[in-house]
Amino acid sequence: MDKFDVIIAGAGTGGSLAAKTVAEAGLNACFLDIKKETDIGRKICGDAIGKHHFSNLGLKEPSSDEIEGIMEGIEIYSPDKKTSYVVKGDQLYGFVLNRYRFGQRLVSEAKSAGAILYDQTQAIEPLVEGGRVCGVKTKNLKTKSEETLRSSLVIEATGFTAALRKKLPPNLGIDLTVDNQDVEACYREIRLLTHSLDNRSLCQIYLNQKTTPGGYYWVFPRKGNKVNVGLGVAMVEGFPKPKERLYQHVLSQPLFTDSSVVDKGAWYVPTRRPLNSMVGDGVMVVGDAACQVNPIHGGGIGPSMIGGKLAGETALKALEKGDLSREGLWEYNIRYISDYGAKQAGLEVFRILLQNVGDEDLNYGMRYRLLTEEDLLKVSLGEDIRFSITEKARRVFKGLKNISFLRKLKNAAKLIREAKNWYKAYPSSPADFENWRTRTEDLFRRAVGQFAA
Ligand SMILES: Cc1cc2nc3c(=O)[nH]c(=O)nc-3n(C[C@H](O)[C@H](O)[C@H](O)COP(=O)(O)OP(=O)(O)OC[C@H]3O[C@@H](n4cnc5c(N)ncnc54)[C@H](O)[C@@H]3O)c2cc1C
Repeated sequence: MDKFDVIIAGAGTGGSLAAKTVAEAGLNACFLDIKKETDIGRKICGDAIGKHHFSNLGLKEPSSDEIEGIMEGIEIYSPDKKTSYVVKGDQLYGFVLNRYRFGQRLVSEAKSAGAILYDQTQAIEPLVEGGRVCGVKTKNLKTKSEETLRSSLVIEATGFTAALRKKLPPNLGIDLTVDNQDVEACYREIRLLTHSLDNRSLCQIYLNQKTTPGGYYWVFPRKGNKVNVGLGVAMVEGFPKPKERLYQHVLSQPLFTDSSVVDKGAWYVPTRRPLNSMVGDGVMVVGDAACQVNPIHGGGIGPSMIGGKLAGETALKALEKGDLSREGLWEYNIRYISDYGAKQAGLEVFRILLQNVGDEDLNYGMRYRLLTEEDLLKVSLGEDIRFSITEKARRVFKGLKNISFLRKLKNAAKLIREAKNWYKAYPSSPADFENWRTRTEDLFRRAVGQFAA
Protein backbone atom coordinates (compact mmCIF):
# COMPACT_ATOMS: atom_id res chain seq x y z
CA MET A 1 0.00 0.00 0.00
CA ASP A 2 1.41 3.41 -1.07
CA LYS A 3 1.72 6.26 1.42
CA PHE A 4 2.02 9.82 0.11
CA ASP A 5 2.36 13.19 1.79
CA VAL A 6 -0.49 14.44 -0.37
CA ILE A 7 -3.00 12.81 -2.70
CA ILE A 8 -4.85 15.11 -5.06
CA ALA A 9 -8.07 13.68 -6.48
CA GLY A 10 -8.75 15.24 -9.90
CA ALA A 11 -6.19 16.51 -12.41
CA GLY A 12 -8.18 19.47 -13.78
CA THR A 13 -7.00 23.05 -13.48
CA GLY A 14 -7.38 23.14 -9.67
CA GLY A 15 -5.89 19.69 -9.01
CA SER A 16 -2.95 20.12 -11.38
CA LEU A 17 -1.97 23.43 -9.78
CA ALA A 18 -2.18 21.85 -6.33
CA ALA A 19 -0.08 18.87 -7.50
CA LYS A 20 2.51 21.12 -9.11
CA THR A 21 2.75 23.34 -6.02
CA VAL A 22 3.31 20.53 -3.54
CA ALA A 23 5.63 18.58 -5.84
CA GLU A 24 7.80 21.64 -6.52
CA ALA A 25 8.17 22.01 -2.74
CA GLY A 26 9.55 18.48 -2.61
CA LEU A 27 6.55 16.70 -1.14
CA ASN A 28 5.78 13.15 -2.12
CA ALA A 29 2.57 13.63 -4.06
CA CYS A 30 0.29 11.85 -6.48
CA PHE A 31 -2.67 13.15 -8.43
CA LEU A 32 -5.29 10.89 -9.89
CA ASP A 33 -7.90 11.27 -12.57
CA ILE A 34 -10.76 9.16 -13.84
CA LYS A 35 -9.76 10.04 -17.40
CA LYS A 36 -7.02 8.55 -19.53
CA GLU A 37 -3.99 10.85 -19.38
CA THR A 38 -4.40 11.84 -23.03
CA ASP A 39 -8.02 12.91 -22.36
CA ILE A 40 -7.36 15.13 -19.34
CA GLY A 41 -8.20 18.73 -20.24
CA ARG A 42 -11.19 17.82 -22.41
CA LYS A 43 -13.75 19.88 -20.55
CA ILE A 44 -17.08 21.45 -21.48
CA CYS A 45 -16.19 25.09 -20.95
CA GLY A 46 -16.38 28.58 -22.47
CA ASP A 47 -12.55 28.51 -22.32
CA ALA A 48 -12.11 32.24 -21.52
CA ILE A 49 -9.60 33.38 -18.89
CA GLY A 50 -8.19 36.76 -17.84
CA LYS A 51 -4.48 37.30 -18.48
CA HIS A 52 -4.02 38.68 -14.94
CA HIS A 53 -4.47 35.18 -13.50
CA PHE A 54 -1.17 34.09 -15.05
CA SER A 55 0.90 36.90 -13.56
CA ASN A 56 -0.85 36.58 -10.19
CA LEU A 57 -0.16 32.85 -10.08
CA GLY A 58 3.37 33.10 -11.47
CA LEU A 59 2.25 30.78 -14.26
CA LYS A 60 3.62 30.88 -17.79
CA GLU A 61 1.08 32.48 -20.13
CA PRO A 62 -0.52 30.15 -22.63
CA SER A 63 1.64 29.45 -25.67
CA SER A 64 0.28 30.17 -29.15
CA ASP A 65 -0.96 26.61 -29.60
CA GLU A 66 -2.87 26.89 -26.28
CA ILE A 67 -4.64 30.07 -27.46
CA GLU A 68 -7.74 30.06 -29.67
CA GLY A 69 -8.45 33.76 -29.37
CA ILE A 70 -7.49 37.03 -27.69
CA MET A 71 -10.20 38.62 -25.57
CA GLU A 72 -9.98 42.42 -25.40
CA GLY A 73 -13.17 42.75 -23.38
CA ILE A 74 -16.76 41.64 -23.03
CA GLU A 75 -19.78 42.92 -24.93
CA ILE A 76 -22.98 42.57 -22.90
CA TYR A 77 -26.35 42.76 -24.66
CA SER A 78 -29.65 43.80 -23.07
CA PRO A 79 -32.51 41.30 -23.45
CA ASP A 80 -34.04 43.25 -26.38
CA LYS A 81 -30.51 43.60 -27.89
CA LYS A 82 -31.16 47.31 -28.37
CA THR A 83 -28.35 48.24 -25.99
CA SER A 84 -24.93 46.71 -25.69
CA TYR A 85 -22.11 47.66 -23.35
CA VAL A 86 -18.49 47.01 -24.16
CA VAL A 87 -16.64 46.45 -20.90
CA LYS A 88 -12.85 46.54 -21.13
CA GLY A 89 -10.03 46.78 -18.64
CA ASP A 90 -6.83 45.03 -17.61
CA GLN A 91 -8.79 42.38 -15.72
CA LEU A 92 -11.00 41.64 -18.72
CA TYR A 93 -8.16 41.29 -21.21
CA GLY A 94 -7.37 37.66 -21.70
CA PHE A 95 -7.48 34.52 -23.77
CA VAL A 96 -9.91 32.03 -25.20
CA LEU A 97 -7.97 28.87 -24.52
CA ASN A 98 -7.52 25.64 -26.32
CA ARG A 99 -8.71 24.07 -23.09
CA TYR A 100 -7.42 20.61 -23.97
CA ARG A 101 -3.85 21.71 -24.72
CA PHE A 102 -3.85 23.99 -21.68
CA GLY A 103 -5.05 21.13 -19.45
CA GLN A 104 -2.39 18.83 -20.87
CA ARG A 105 0.27 21.45 -20.16
CA LEU A 106 -0.78 21.77 -16.51
CA VAL A 107 -0.64 17.99 -16.06
CA SER A 108 2.75 17.84 -17.67
CA GLU A 109 4.10 20.66 -15.44
CA ALA A 110 2.84 18.86 -12.32
CA LYS A 111 4.48 15.61 -13.49
CA SER A 112 7.75 17.38 -14.29
CA ALA A 113 7.73 18.82 -10.78
CA GLY A 114 7.62 15.24 -9.46
CA ALA A 115 3.93 14.49 -8.87
CA ILE A 116 2.95 10.96 -9.86
CA LEU A 117 -0.14 10.75 -12.08
CA TYR A 118 -2.52 7.83 -11.70
CA ASP A 119 -4.79 8.17 -14.71
CA GLN A 120 -7.94 6.07 -15.28
CA THR A 121 -8.23 5.98 -11.53
CA GLN A 122 -11.55 6.86 -9.99
CA ALA A 123 -11.72 8.36 -6.52
CA ILE A 124 -14.58 6.44 -4.92
CA GLU A 125 -14.62 7.75 -1.38
CA PRO A 126 -12.35 9.24 1.28
CA LEU A 127 -10.57 6.82 3.59
CA VAL A 128 -11.57 7.97 7.07
CA GLU A 129 -9.92 6.62 10.23
CA GLY A 130 -10.27 8.01 13.72
CA GLY A 131 -12.50 10.79 12.38
CA ARG A 132 -9.89 12.17 9.96
CA VAL A 133 -9.24 11.70 6.26
CA CYS A 134 -6.10 9.64 5.65
CA GLY A 135 -6.37 8.54 2.04
CA VAL A 136 -8.64 7.70 -0.86
CA LYS A 137 -10.41 4.51 -1.85
CA THR A 138 -10.02 4.21 -5.61
CA LYS A 139 -10.96 2.03 -8.52
CA ASN A 140 -8.34 1.33 -11.16
CA LEU A 141 -10.34 1.45 -14.40
CA LYS A 142 -7.64 -0.46 -16.31
CA THR A 143 -7.57 -3.48 -14.00
CA LYS A 144 -11.06 -2.96 -12.46
CA SER A 145 -9.48 -3.49 -9.07
CA GLU A 146 -10.23 -1.44 -5.98
CA GLU A 147 -7.24 0.05 -4.22
CA THR A 148 -6.59 2.21 -1.19
CA LEU A 149 -4.07 5.03 -1.40
CA ARG A 150 -2.87 6.44 1.91
CA SER A 151 -1.62 9.94 2.59
CA SER A 152 -1.13 12.51 5.33
CA LEU A 153 -3.42 14.85 3.43
CA VAL A 154 -6.03 14.63 0.66
CA ILE A 155 -6.89 17.50 -1.68
CA GLU A 156 -10.33 17.06 -3.23
CA ALA A 157 -10.32 18.53 -6.77
CA THR A 158 -12.80 16.36 -8.67
CA GLY A 159 -14.68 19.37 -10.04
CA PHE A 160 -18.43 19.72 -9.98
CA THR A 161 -18.95 16.01 -9.22
CA ALA A 162 -17.23 16.55 -5.84
CA ALA A 163 -16.85 12.77 -5.60
CA LEU A 164 -15.04 12.89 -2.25
CA ARG A 165 -16.57 16.02 -0.69
CA LYS A 166 -20.06 14.55 -0.86
CA LYS A 167 -18.90 11.53 1.15
CA LEU A 168 -16.97 13.32 3.90
CA PRO A 169 -18.11 12.78 7.48
CA PRO A 170 -20.41 15.76 8.24
CA ASN A 171 -18.60 16.55 11.50
CA LEU A 172 -15.49 17.67 9.56
CA GLY A 173 -17.33 20.97 9.03
CA ILE A 174 -17.32 21.02 5.21
CA ASP A 175 -20.71 21.44 3.51
CA LEU A 176 -21.56 18.20 1.71
CA THR A 177 -24.21 19.58 -0.61
CA VAL A 178 -24.76 22.65 -2.76
CA ASP A 179 -28.28 23.93 -3.54
CA ASN A 180 -29.39 23.36 -7.13
CA GLN A 181 -30.52 26.98 -7.36
CA ASP A 182 -26.82 27.90 -7.07
CA VAL A 183 -25.89 25.73 -10.05
CA GLU A 184 -26.12 26.52 -13.76
CA ALA A 185 -26.93 23.68 -16.14
CA CYS A 186 -25.05 24.43 -19.36
CA TYR A 187 -24.79 23.23 -22.92
CA ARG A 188 -22.16 24.44 -25.36
CA GLU A 189 -20.90 23.74 -28.84
CA ILE A 190 -17.82 24.75 -30.73
CA ARG A 191 -19.08 25.65 -34.20
CA LEU A 192 -17.38 26.41 -37.47
CA LEU A 193 -19.12 29.36 -39.12
CA THR A 194 -19.31 29.86 -42.85
CA HIS A 195 -18.11 33.44 -42.51
CA SER A 196 -16.00 35.58 -40.23
CA LEU A 197 -17.41 37.41 -37.18
CA ASP A 198 -17.52 41.23 -37.35
CA ASN A 199 -15.59 41.61 -34.13
CA ARG A 200 -13.25 38.81 -33.18
CA SER A 201 -11.79 40.39 -30.06
CA LEU A 202 -14.88 40.69 -27.85
CA CYS A 203 -16.55 37.85 -25.98
CA GLN A 204 -20.30 38.40 -26.27
CA ILE A 205 -22.75 37.78 -23.45
CA TYR A 206 -26.52 37.98 -23.99
CA LEU A 207 -28.81 38.53 -21.02
CA ASN A 208 -32.35 37.27 -21.45
CA GLN A 209 -34.38 35.80 -18.62
CA LYS A 210 -36.98 34.30 -20.97
CA THR A 211 -34.45 32.39 -23.05
CA THR A 212 -31.99 31.64 -20.28
CA PRO A 213 -33.77 31.92 -16.92
CA GLY A 214 -31.19 32.66 -14.25
CA GLY A 215 -28.31 32.60 -16.73
CA TYR A 216 -27.16 33.92 -20.10
CA TYR A 217 -25.90 32.78 -23.47
CA TRP A 218 -22.50 33.51 -24.92
CA VAL A 219 -20.59 33.61 -28.19
CA PHE A 220 -16.81 33.57 -27.81
CA PRO A 221 -14.72 33.85 -31.01
CA ARG A 222 -12.02 31.30 -31.78
CA LYS A 223 -9.43 30.88 -34.51
CA GLY A 224 -10.46 30.03 -38.07
CA ASN A 225 -14.10 31.23 -38.02
CA LYS A 226 -14.92 29.05 -35.05
CA VAL A 227 -16.93 30.14 -32.02
CA ASN A 228 -17.64 28.71 -28.60
CA VAL A 229 -21.40 29.18 -28.22
CA GLY A 230 -23.40 28.05 -25.23
CA LEU A 231 -25.85 28.85 -22.53
CA GLY A 232 -26.57 28.24 -18.90
CA VAL A 233 -29.81 28.24 -16.93
CA ALA A 234 -30.28 28.18 -13.17
CA MET A 235 -31.28 24.71 -11.96
CA VAL A 236 -34.46 25.84 -10.22
CA GLU A 237 -37.58 23.69 -10.34
CA GLY A 238 -38.81 23.09 -13.90
CA PHE A 239 -35.73 24.64 -15.52
CA PRO A 240 -35.61 24.29 -19.34
CA LYS A 241 -33.21 21.92 -21.13
CA PRO A 242 -30.15 24.01 -22.07
CA LYS A 243 -29.53 22.16 -25.34
CA GLU A 244 -33.10 22.72 -26.56
CA ARG A 245 -32.87 26.40 -25.62
CA LEU A 246 -29.59 26.78 -27.51
CA TYR A 247 -31.02 25.21 -30.65
CA GLN A 248 -34.35 27.09 -30.47
CA HIS A 249 -33.11 30.56 -29.61
CA VAL A 250 -29.45 30.86 -30.49
CA LEU A 251 -28.37 28.43 -33.19
CA SER A 252 -31.49 29.39 -35.17
CA GLN A 253 -30.02 32.88 -35.67
CA PRO A 254 -28.60 33.82 -39.12
CA LEU A 255 -25.03 33.85 -37.74
CA PHE A 256 -25.18 30.05 -37.48
CA THR A 257 -26.75 29.26 -40.85
CA ASP A 258 -24.82 26.37 -42.44
CA SER A 259 -22.40 26.25 -39.50
CA SER A 260 -21.11 22.85 -38.40
CA VAL A 261 -20.44 21.28 -35.01
CA VAL A 262 -16.79 20.75 -34.03
CA ASP A 263 -17.42 19.74 -30.42
CA LYS A 264 -20.40 19.66 -28.07
CA GLY A 265 -21.49 18.77 -24.60
CA ALA A 266 -23.37 19.60 -21.42
CA TRP A 267 -22.04 20.20 -17.93
CA TYR A 268 -22.69 22.13 -14.72
CA VAL A 269 -21.07 25.02 -12.93
CA PRO A 270 -21.68 26.24 -9.36
CA THR A 271 -22.30 30.01 -9.34
CA ARG A 272 -22.18 31.01 -5.70
CA ARG A 273 -19.80 32.03 -2.96
CA PRO A 274 -17.15 29.46 -1.98
CA LEU A 275 -18.03 26.77 0.54
CA ASN A 276 -18.18 28.28 4.03
CA SER A 277 -15.23 26.11 5.02
CA MET A 278 -13.00 24.17 2.64
CA VAL A 279 -10.88 22.32 5.21
CA GLY A 280 -11.33 19.47 7.66
CA ASP A 281 -9.00 17.10 9.50
CA GLY A 282 -6.72 15.71 6.78
CA VAL A 283 -8.56 17.24 3.82
CA MET A 284 -8.87 20.40 1.70
CA VAL A 285 -11.25 21.12 -1.19
CA VAL A 286 -10.40 23.19 -4.31
CA GLY A 287 -11.98 24.33 -7.57
CA ASP A 288 -15.57 23.60 -8.57
CA ALA A 289 -15.78 21.07 -5.72
CA ALA A 290 -15.32 24.08 -3.38
CA CYS A 291 -17.51 26.42 -5.51
CA GLN A 292 -14.52 28.57 -6.46
CA VAL A 293 -16.23 30.15 -9.45
CA ASN A 294 -17.19 33.71 -10.37
CA PRO A 295 -20.97 33.73 -9.69
CA ILE A 296 -21.74 36.22 -12.46
CA HIS A 297 -20.03 34.77 -15.52
CA GLY A 298 -19.21 31.29 -14.28
CA GLY A 299 -15.46 31.69 -14.80
CA GLY A 300 -13.75 29.05 -12.70
CA ILE A 301 -10.46 28.24 -14.46
CA GLY A 302 -8.58 31.12 -12.77
CA PRO A 303 -10.10 30.73 -9.27
CA SER A 304 -9.63 26.95 -9.31
CA MET A 305 -5.93 27.50 -10.01
CA ILE A 306 -5.77 30.09 -7.20
CA GLY A 307 -7.43 27.53 -4.91
CA GLY A 308 -5.03 24.79 -6.03
CA LYS A 309 -1.98 26.93 -5.43
CA LEU A 310 -3.12 28.19 -2.02
CA ALA A 311 -4.10 24.67 -0.92
CA GLY A 312 -0.67 23.40 -2.02
CA GLU A 313 1.15 26.15 -0.12
CA THR A 314 -0.94 25.51 2.99
CA ALA A 315 -0.27 21.78 2.72
CA LEU A 316 3.45 22.42 2.75
CA LYS A 317 3.31 24.58 5.89
CA ALA A 318 0.97 22.19 7.69
CA LEU A 319 3.21 19.21 6.93
CA GLU A 320 6.26 21.11 8.13
CA LYS A 321 4.45 21.87 11.38
CA GLY A 322 3.07 18.34 11.57
CA ASP A 323 -0.43 19.69 12.08
CA LEU A 324 -2.89 18.48 9.46
CA SER A 325 -5.93 19.12 11.59
CA ARG A 326 -8.74 21.46 10.58
CA GLU A 327 -7.05 24.13 12.64
CA GLY A 328 -3.67 23.47 11.04
CA LEU A 329 -5.18 23.82 7.53
CA TRP A 330 -7.39 26.82 8.38
CA GLU A 331 -5.00 29.28 6.74
CA TYR A 332 -6.22 28.05 3.34
CA ASN A 333 -9.76 29.17 4.23
CA ILE A 334 -8.50 32.56 5.35
CA ARG A 335 -6.31 33.18 2.32
CA TYR A 336 -8.89 32.14 -0.28
CA ILE A 337 -12.15 33.23 1.33
CA SER A 338 -11.10 36.66 2.60
CA ASP A 339 -9.68 37.52 -0.82
CA TYR A 340 -11.21 35.92 -3.94
CA GLY A 341 -14.06 34.60 -1.79
CA ALA A 342 -15.00 38.17 -0.83
CA LYS A 343 -15.27 39.03 -4.51
CA GLN A 344 -17.41 35.94 -5.10
CA ALA A 345 -19.69 36.85 -2.18
CA GLY A 346 -20.31 40.36 -3.58
CA LEU A 347 -20.92 38.92 -7.04
CA GLU A 348 -23.37 36.37 -5.69
CA VAL A 349 -25.47 39.24 -4.34
CA PHE A 350 -25.32 40.84 -7.80
CA ARG A 351 -26.28 37.51 -9.39
CA ILE A 352 -29.31 37.25 -7.12
CA LEU A 353 -30.29 40.79 -8.18
CA LEU A 354 -29.90 40.02 -11.90
CA GLN A 355 -31.89 36.80 -11.58
CA ASN A 356 -34.74 38.71 -9.99
CA VAL A 357 -35.07 41.69 -12.29
CA GLY A 358 -37.23 41.13 -15.34
CA ASP A 359 -36.11 41.62 -18.94
CA GLU A 360 -38.10 44.89 -19.12
CA ASP A 361 -36.21 46.34 -16.17
CA LEU A 362 -32.88 45.30 -17.64
CA ASN A 363 -33.76 46.78 -21.05
CA TYR A 364 -34.76 50.00 -19.34
CA GLY A 365 -31.83 50.04 -16.92
CA MET A 366 -29.28 49.53 -19.69
CA ARG A 367 -30.97 51.88 -22.20
CA TYR A 368 -31.13 54.73 -19.69
CA ARG A 369 -27.82 53.82 -18.11
CA LEU A 370 -29.12 53.34 -14.59
CA LEU A 371 -26.42 50.70 -14.59
CA THR A 372 -23.35 51.73 -16.60
CA GLU A 373 -20.37 49.97 -18.16
CA GLU A 374 -18.30 51.40 -15.34
CA ASP A 375 -20.65 49.90 -12.74
CA LEU A 376 -20.42 46.52 -14.45
CA LEU A 377 -16.66 46.76 -14.64
CA LYS A 378 -16.43 47.68 -10.96
CA VAL A 379 -18.78 44.88 -9.95
CA SER A 380 -16.85 42.37 -12.04
CA LEU A 381 -13.59 43.47 -10.42
CA GLY A 382 -15.08 43.09 -6.99
CA GLU A 383 -14.91 46.85 -6.38
CA ASP A 384 -17.55 48.89 -4.58
CA ILE A 385 -20.24 50.59 -6.63
CA ARG A 386 -21.00 53.97 -5.07
CA PHE A 387 -23.29 56.51 -6.67
CA SER A 388 -22.12 60.10 -6.19
CA ILE A 389 -24.84 62.59 -5.21
CA THR A 390 -24.98 64.32 -8.60
CA GLU A 391 -24.74 61.03 -10.42
CA LYS A 392 -27.47 59.63 -8.19
CA ALA A 393 -29.68 62.62 -8.88
CA ARG A 394 -29.13 62.26 -12.61
CA ARG A 395 -29.96 58.59 -12.51
CA VAL A 396 -32.98 59.01 -10.27
CA PHE A 397 -34.33 61.57 -12.68
CA LYS A 398 -33.93 59.17 -15.60
CA GLY A 399 -35.31 56.33 -13.55
CA LEU A 400 -38.49 57.94 -12.33
CA LYS A 401 -40.53 55.55 -14.40
CA ASN A 402 -38.72 52.66 -12.90
CA ILE A 403 -38.19 53.45 -9.30
CA SER A 404 -38.36 49.87 -8.02
CA PHE A 405 -35.45 48.78 -10.22
CA LEU A 406 -33.47 51.79 -9.03
CA ARG A 407 -34.24 50.92 -5.42
CA LYS A 408 -33.10 47.35 -6.03
CA LEU A 409 -29.85 48.60 -7.57
CA LYS A 410 -29.12 50.82 -4.62
CA ASN A 411 -29.93 48.07 -2.14
CA ALA A 412 -27.72 45.70 -4.11
CA ALA A 413 -24.77 48.10 -3.98
CA LYS A 414 -25.13 48.28 -0.20
CA LEU A 415 -25.49 44.56 0.24
CA ILE A 416 -22.54 43.84 -2.06
CA ARG A 417 -20.37 46.01 0.17
CA GLU A 418 -21.68 44.30 3.27
CA ALA A 419 -21.04 40.82 1.85
CA LYS A 420 -17.52 41.67 0.77
CA ASN A 421 -16.58 43.24 4.08
CA TRP A 422 -18.05 40.30 5.93
CA TYR A 423 -15.97 37.87 3.88
CA LYS A 424 -12.81 39.94 4.33
CA ALA A 425 -13.31 39.47 8.07
CA TYR A 426 -13.35 35.65 7.77
CA PRO A 427 -12.69 34.08 11.21
CA SER A 428 -9.04 33.63 12.08
CA SER A 429 -9.68 30.23 13.66
CA PRO A 430 -12.35 27.52 13.61
CA ALA A 431 -13.50 28.69 17.06
CA ASP A 432 -15.44 31.63 15.56
CA PHE A 433 -16.68 29.74 12.54
CA GLU A 434 -20.21 28.71 13.58
CA ASN A 435 -21.19 32.29 14.36
CA TRP A 436 -19.72 33.43 11.02
CA ARG A 437 -21.58 30.72 9.13
CA THR A 438 -24.92 31.58 10.76
CA ARG A 439 -24.56 35.27 9.93
CA THR A 440 -23.42 34.48 6.38
CA GLU A 441 -26.50 32.39 5.72
CA ASP A 442 -28.63 35.19 7.13
CA LEU A 443 -26.97 37.72 4.82
CA PHE A 444 -27.75 35.69 1.69
CA ARG A 445 -31.32 34.98 2.86
CA ARG A 446 -31.75 38.74 3.17
CA ALA A 447 -30.41 39.21 -0.38
CA VAL A 448 -32.92 36.72 -1.77
CA GLY A 449 -35.70 38.35 0.27
CA GLN A 450 -34.84 41.86 -0.90
CA PHE A 451 -34.64 41.16 -4.59
CA ALA A 452 -37.29 38.48 -5.05
CA ALA A 453 -39.76 39.86 -7.58
C1 LIG B 1 -20.40 25.23 -20.02
C2 LIG B 1 -19.35 25.81 -19.14
C3 LIG B 1 -18.67 26.96 -19.55
C4 LIG B 1 -17.66 27.48 -18.74
N1 LIG B 1 -16.96 28.55 -19.20
C5 LIG B 1 -15.91 29.01 -18.51
C6 LIG B 1 -15.09 30.07 -19.04
O1 LIG B 1 -15.30 30.57 -20.14
N2 LIG B 1 -14.04 30.49 -18.29
C7 LIG B 1 -13.77 29.95 -17.06
O2 LIG B 1 -12.82 30.39 -16.41
N3 LIG B 1 -14.52 28.94 -16.55
C8 LIG B 1 -15.57 28.46 -17.24
N4 LIG B 1 -16.30 27.41 -16.75
C9 LIG B 1 -15.96 26.85 -15.43
C10 LIG B 1 -14.66 26.04 -15.47
O3 LIG B 1 -14.70 25.10 -16.51
C11 LIG B 1 -14.47 25.31 -14.12
O4 LIG B 1 -14.78 26.21 -13.07
C12 LIG B 1 -13.04 24.82 -13.93
O5 LIG B 1 -12.67 23.97 -14.97
C13 LIG B 1 -12.95 24.09 -12.60
O6 LIG B 1 -11.73 23.41 -12.48
P1 LIG B 1 -11.60 22.14 -11.51
O7 LIG B 1 -10.19 21.74 -11.56
O8 LIG B 1 -12.23 22.44 -10.22
O9 LIG B 1 -12.53 21.04 -12.17
P2 LIG B 1 -12.37 20.27 -13.55
O10 LIG B 1 -11.63 21.08 -14.54
O11 LIG B 1 -13.74 19.81 -13.89
O12 LIG B 1 -11.44 19.03 -13.19
C14 LIG B 1 -11.88 17.97 -12.41
C15 LIG B 1 -11.07 16.74 -12.79
O13 LIG B 1 -11.44 15.69 -11.91
C16 LIG B 1 -11.65 14.50 -12.64
N5 LIG B 1 -12.59 13.68 -11.89
C17 LIG B 1 -13.92 13.87 -11.73
N6 LIG B 1 -14.44 12.92 -10.93
C18 LIG B 1 -13.40 12.13 -10.57
C19 LIG B 1 -13.31 10.98 -9.74
N7 LIG B 1 -14.36 10.45 -9.10
N8 LIG B 1 -12.09 10.41 -9.59
C20 LIG B 1 -10.99 10.91 -10.23
N9 LIG B 1 -11.05 12.00 -11.02
C21 LIG B 1 -12.23 12.61 -11.18
C22 LIG B 1 -12.16 14.97 -13.99
O14 LIG B 1 -11.89 14.00 -14.98
C23 LIG B 1 -11.38 16.26 -14.19
O15 LIG B 1 -10.17 16.04 -14.90
C24 LIG B 1 -17.33 26.88 -17.50
C25 LIG B 1 -18.02 25.73 -17.08
C26 LIG B 1 -19.01 25.19 -17.89
C27 LIG B 1 -19.74 23.96 -17.46
